[in-house]
Amino acid sequence: MKRVLMLGPPGSGKGTQGERLARSLGVEHISSGALLREAVAGGTPLGHQVEQAMSEGRLVSDELVSEAVRPALQRRNGYVLDGFPRKLSQTDGVDFDAVVHLDVPEAEVVRRLLGRGRADDTEAVIAERLREYREDTLPLLDHYRDVVVEVDGDRDADEIAAELRERV
Ligand code: AMP
Repeated sequence: MKRVLMLGPPGSGKGTQGERLARSLGVEHISSGALLREAVAGGTPLGHQVEQAMSEGRLVSDELVSEAVRPALQRRNGYVLDGFPRKLSQTDGVDFDAVVHLDVPEAEVVRRLLGRGRADDTEAVIAERLREYREDTLPLLDHYRDVVVEVDGDRDADEIAAELRERV
């Protein structure tokens, strides 16, 4: 059983790298953002409740994101989590064997995000998501410091994937 958290700013490649790592570990990749977007697309009650916050780049409430993610955390083999927990108030009882910090300079992530063209990738929303990352999410690195794996994310994707396979 291996439980891994991918930590990095939006646009750092943590989604792609998390999926590759999950495949190589033989565990499931769980993205809170993807689960929430599915709920919105499916028009579920949860989706209606989170729609507004997501379109503005704001975080949804701890209760609502827990509702989306907790069932997926019961996987017996372990998992690679992307996007949850994203702030200290979401870390209660959530432990990991490794927390990967994919470090990418802000100027580079802004460049990548503007090129991605997702509905919530406008300049104002990107600025808000980066602010939220700095203020709310980066403190998780200290909280999980005993298991943090620091990785330079501003490199060729295959190199990063190979390093993760070795170190996680
Ligand atoms: P992501 O795909 O990780 O960029 O997430 C997209 C959006 O989903 C975020 O901008 C938030 O609105 C919401 N979201 C995802 N994960 C969380 C979380 N752990 N806590 C609160 N909101 C979240």
